Amino acid sequence: MTAACRQTAFAGLDPPDDWRPTRYAQRPGRLELGLDSLPGIGAALRRKLGRLGLRTVADVLSHRPRRYEPAVSELPIAALREGEEVVVSGRVLTVARRRARGRRTRVVARVDDGTAAISVTWFNQPWLADRLQPGATVRLRGKLGRFGFEPRAYDLGEARATADFAPVYPAAEEIPLAAVRRVVEAALPFASHVPDPLPAALRERQGLALKRDAVVALHRPRDLAEAEAARQRLAFEELLVLQVGIGRRAAERARTLAPALGQPGELVRRYREQLPFALTPYQEQAIREIDADLARTVPMQRLLQGDVGSGKTVVALYALLRAVEHGRQGALMAPTETLAEQHFLTLADRCGELGVRLALLTSSSRKRQREDALAADIVVGTHALIQEGVALRDLAVAVVDEQHRFGVEQRAALAAGRAPHVLHMTATPIPRTLALTVYGDLAVSEIAQPPASRKPVVTSWITQERSSEAYTRLRRLLRQGRQAYVVCPLIEAAETSLARAAEDEAERLRRGELRGFRVGCLHGRLKAAERRELMARFKAHELDVLVATTVIEVGVDVPNATVMIVQEADRFGLAQLHQLRGRVGRGAEQSYCLLVSRPGEELSESAQARLRALCATSDGFELAEADLELRGGGTLLGTRQSGLSDLRFAHLLRDRPLLELARAAAPSIGPGPVQDAADALVAGVEPEDLA
Ligand code: ADP
Ligand code: MG
Repeated sequence: MTAACRQTAFAGLDPPDDWRPTRYAQRPGRLELGLDSLPGIGAALRRKLGRLGLRTVADVLSHRPRRYEPAVSELPIAALREGEEVVVSGRVLTVARRRARGRRTRVVARVDDGTAAISVTWFNQPWLADRLQPGATVRLRGKLGRFGFEPRAYDLGEARATADFAPVYPAAEEIPLAAVRRVVEAALPFASHVPDPLPAALRERQGLALKRDAVVALHRPRDLAEAEAARQRLAFEELLVLQVGIGRRAAERARTLAPALGQPGELVRRYREQLPFALTPYQEQAIREIDADLARTVPMQRLLQGDVGSGKTVVALYALLRAVEHGRQGALMAPTETLAEQHFLTLADRCGELGVRLALLTSSSRKRQREDALAADIVVGTHALIQEGVALRDLAVAVVDEQHRFGVEQRAALAAGRAPHVLHMTATPIPRTLALTVYGDLAVSEIAQPPASRKPVVTSWITQERSSEAYTRLRRLLRQGRQAYVVCPLIEAAETSLARAAEDEAERLRRGELRGFRVGCLHGRLKAAERRELMARFKAHELDVLVATTVIEVGVDVPNATVMIVQEADRFGLAQLHQLRGRVGRGAEQSYCLLVSRPGEELSESAQARLRALCATSDGFELAEADLELRGGGTLLGTRQSGLSDLRFAHLLRDRPLLELARAAAPSIGPGPVQDAADALVAGVEPEDLA
């Protein structure tokens, strides 16, 4: 009898709590071991894996294959034809390391299998030159291409994994596939320590495999069906945790009270009069829905979704003013300080005219400023500050910009049984029904159409070699009186080095491609006043071009700016590029967005797919679906803070049936690991952080 069979026979029983662990007991602690405890993984590889978030055995075990490649046939070298993926094996004759274009290296080996010899070329894996000794046997999976045989995977010596049905990992975009597979193989024996959080009765009822068996099958399936069954087992658990979390949150909310704000009053009437435009029907509809929520003592939880520039902020300010006219406070929470500052600037004029006290609260605010902020009518700050740092006098309405944690209520207020009404704004639209299913009790308002009809931004993608063409086009448009943004590469660096990189780039362009034009530089290190002045000059057309970091993602609105060049666009996420592109196309003139990427060979499959999607459509909804498709379930809402970023296995579009199953099962889940994970999710804490 195998271990798996024995387990099935016991599936109806969870061991009593007082059972002592035996010598064979699982030791889940071992899953938290670092990768240095696995054999044969050097420090350099560990560092690279660490940068991809793979630090522990558990990380590796839950690193989900992006796809599985089918088995391919093995051919004699003499029978090779171009373009077809095959496996060849042979003996290494010679090995040489060459320099390729740019900073790339090339390792070239001659390989002979008795029928013929062939040149084999690996890019950017210089260490291979040492590992491939003349005389060694190799097995190579790849295609005949421009540089001879170009392997995508290989086995050295006796290993034989390459030709078979095998997983392909996301990490293999940065690290050779063979190395990733080696790490997974080394981690797999630990799978026996993976505990199963699902109650045995549920597992039995739904016919679900043990988690540890699913983990093994995920990495070493015999066929696609087995891989998919394993994925579904893991996805079900994730969705169950999510659904239990939603249930917990709804129950918590039912116990808290928010101030009922009655009917709209005089302040919002003046606000409407003061707006230089009439609200669109979608905005009016959203406002009606918000008013209905605010009239009740059940705390509002509403998602306000609409594309960049669709007029969400105008609606959000309305909701905040509804708090103010009742003598209470409103808070606008942004994901970063820079975005908080921009929101502050956007709201400042309107609030000034209405006599509403608006305050900005950042981590650099002094004690005095903090105290003032607490006394203000509307406070703008970062999520962290407002949620945990300060106790607002009388918060009635909170607007949360682009953050999708479940727990946004102020902890202190919650403890006292009070909660504000919360409006979540997002520019990454998600299908309405999906939002309802995922969030359960989150209501959705949708601004489906921007106020003015905008022409779609003509978007094209070119690689760096041809970037001079982009600047030629840019200069032509500048000479016609248009203005432009140049977005600097997204590098992972402190705000200060980002700022410096942007300044350097602006200087380079002033001397080079943009000589003779007036070039300003916008980044997160500028003081609020400096930034305001810079924006004012750009708006007044005293500057032709604004070189910027992603600071311009929101809040910048200059209709005459009709061109955007995004450098190293392949480094950006789809949602972020869409946001950036929303800065142009705001006037009557045709606008252009030029995405300049690194050379094609250096781009990952998903980077290419992102750039293609952007060129193909400017519809935020379609892009959200494309993003979902590319990234799976994990990053549905496009931000790393998303509580949903923990979904690795579930695909929210395709797994609707699983989601329904999880929804049905959720109410029966009692205290235990699933509920603990759900509570952690609701509180916005990773389960590991609780340990
Ligand atoms: P979002 O927050 O969705 O990006 P905003 O509320 O910032 O959108 O609005 C984008 C721009 O459109 C702003 O300049 C705003 O003043 C303007 N705007 C908003 N609503 C309307 C409307 N109903 N008619 C005309 N312009 C509008
Ligand atoms: Mg806005």
